[in-house]
Amino acid sequence: MPLDVLHRLLAPLREPPLSSRYPDAPPLVQPATRGLPELDPARCARERACADACPTSAITVLGDAWSIDAGRCVFCAACAIACPNGAIRMGARVELAAVDRATLIEVVALPDAGGRP
Ligand code: SF4
Repeated sequence: MPLDVLHRLLAPLREPPLSSRYPDAPPLVQPATRGLPELDPARCARERACADACPTSAITVLGDAWSIDAGRCVFCAACAIACPNGAIRMGARVELAAVDRATLIEVVALPDAGGRP
């Protein structure tokens, strides 16, 4: 009987680890993880629905650029839901620590509007 208890107590040590060796190995990102939103510039029609839907004003659409402030984003996915063209998806990037505040702002160049405002 005592050996049976010992066997059960040591069982977890015989199993492989459930977590990754982060930061030596990439983090384990599950498919449902909401990382920083990503824009497909080719699908963006500059309708600014994403910026209007964002509760933290993390998104800016100005001229030929779309930008997102990772320091403001709360990963709610409202921007991805609001975009009528499906240009935004919740990405898998979760490593967003930064030393400099300015590096949290990501700018994506938009293709020529072709006469669109
Ligand atoms: S996920 Fe939410 S907070 Fe982040 S940019 Fe989109 S709407 Fe704004």
